[in-house]
Amino acid sequence: MSARVLVVDDVEANVKLLEAKLSSEYFDVLSAFNGHSALEIADSEVPDVILLDVMMPRMDGFEVCRRLKANPRTADVPVVMVTALSDVANRLRGLEVGADDFLTKPVNDIALFARVRSLARLKRMMEEWRLREGICGRFAGHDTAVAEDSGPARIILIEEDQFAAARMAEILRPSAQLVICQSCAEVQRQLDGDTELVIASLSTPRGDPLLLVTQCRASEMFRQLPILLIAEEGDLHRLAKGLDLGANDYLIRPVDQNELLARTGTQIRRKRLQDRLQENYQRSLSLALTDELTGLYNRRYLLAHLDELIGRVNHDHISAAILLFDIDHFKQVNDTYGHAAGDDVLRELASRTMNSVRSVDLVARLGGEEFVVVMPDTDSTIATAVAERLRLAVAREPFIIRVGGVKVAVTVSIGVSAAAEGGDCRAQLLKRADDALYEAKTAGRNRIVTRLADLPPITWASLTQRNDETIGPTGAQGRIDIDRRLQSKKRAQANLARSHPNSIPSKVRRSVRDTAHQVWAMVGPQHPIAPRRTLI
Ligand SMILES: [Mg+2]
Repeated sequence: MSARVLVVDDVEANVKLLEAKLSSEYFDVLSAFNGHSALEIADSEVPDVILLDVMMPRMDGFEVCRRLKANPRTADVPVVMVTALSDVANRLRGLEVGADDFLTKPVNDIALFARVRSLARLKRMMEEWRLREGICGRFAGHDTAVAEDSGPARIILIEEDQFAAARMAEILRPSAQLVICQSCAEVQRQLDGDTELVIASLSTPRGDPLLLVTQCRASEMFRQLPILLIAEEGDLHRLAKGLDLGANDYLIRPVDQNELLARTGTQIRRKRLQDRLQENYQRSLSLALTDELTGLYNRRYLLAHLDELIGRVNHDHISAAILLFDIDHFKQVNDTYGHAAGDDVLRELASRTMNSVRSVDLVARLGGEEFVVVMPDTDSTIATAVAERLRLAVAREPFIIRVGGVKVAVTVSIGVSAAAEGGDCRAQLLKRADDALYEAKTAGRNRIVTRLADLPPITWASLTQRNDETIGPTGAQGRIDIDRRLQSKKRAQANLARSHPNSIPSKVRRSVRDTAHQVWAMVGPQHPIAPRRTLI
């Protein structure tokens, strides 16, 4: 999409000239002939860049710029002042009211196109961050406003002329930590995450500053780092190239003290704003996916994660299991000690759960007093053992409520279900765990019930020696029983595979097919030893 440029000038011929130049470079051009209509068009169309004449009757360019920057809809639209005036006082006045650059009439084409492209790119990037931040802010329901901050900025200056470097250092030092480098290689050694601006002289003999611009823009870490180029009057072509490659701004020698301060200040403010938007975005994102009370993942994240996991079970043939558990008689805790106490119990349960599961497991709060542990690469036997560790961690010691220091005995009932390869889905996996949990509740609570995909439920009690006779075999015998069931299932699958070639398990079929493809690749399909396609 081409950038939209609003050209504002009280002289029609000037507007037509800029329009013709910009249209020839495929920019989309809007025009206005006075300040009021410029403000109206800017507010309704929100262009990517505004080229603004300074000298206009009734409302001059400075006032238009000030109003544009005061309107939240147009505050981020870069403004380039176009003026016959080239004196420093006017340039500074323009920067003070928020103008991003100046072009002097008659406008140089290279400078014009390079500036417009570079500023349009910047505006879109800021828009993208504001959009993401806005969406996430609404999502997470918190305020995303950013505050101004100050403090010296870390600036890297590449300047081969020691006299010029010392002078710039003198100007910038009160508000900056300045690192002066003699070559591009030295800059690369000095660059770090705290650097907020690079000022590079284009006439540096050691290394190419344009290459540095390209490298920064290609790197994830320094993509947003502002780069300010310093050029000689006769070096406009390289300057235009630098801006095209992604440099943010430039100064022409001899460098004016106030302009240097104003332009570095603008770049640093912009970088800090952008960093904050990015931080807010990351924070909003994490708030949107975590549970505020316990700090665990929330239901939204859990469901997305389970879909992903089921995909891996079906395609990568990994095993996976989940624990679904809730607090026994949680309502009594709330009714007896109040909701604040209930929250304490939920937080403590989250903490004990995190300490009982493995680092690869994911713990989420499904809602209310219901929690889920997702366990990749885990079969039901291991999942049941982890569930028992969790059950004991909860039941072993009472929970202490902060207000009043009351001790409350808490227990959990846990449903365990393992994902079955081929056709299992999130809903089925959760349903089996929920059925198992229900069964644990009806069997008396503070216990674990495990459900495999197509086998009758197994209770943890059947795997341990602390068991009553009614549930089933105990201890080692219980484990052997599970192994036997699984073995007989595998035998049944193998028998089926032998009797019917189409029922070969997908894992085996895939492996045969991969081998066949390799043979094909080596010998070609016409070779006598090439496998027949019908085999697989
Ligand atoms: Mg004018």
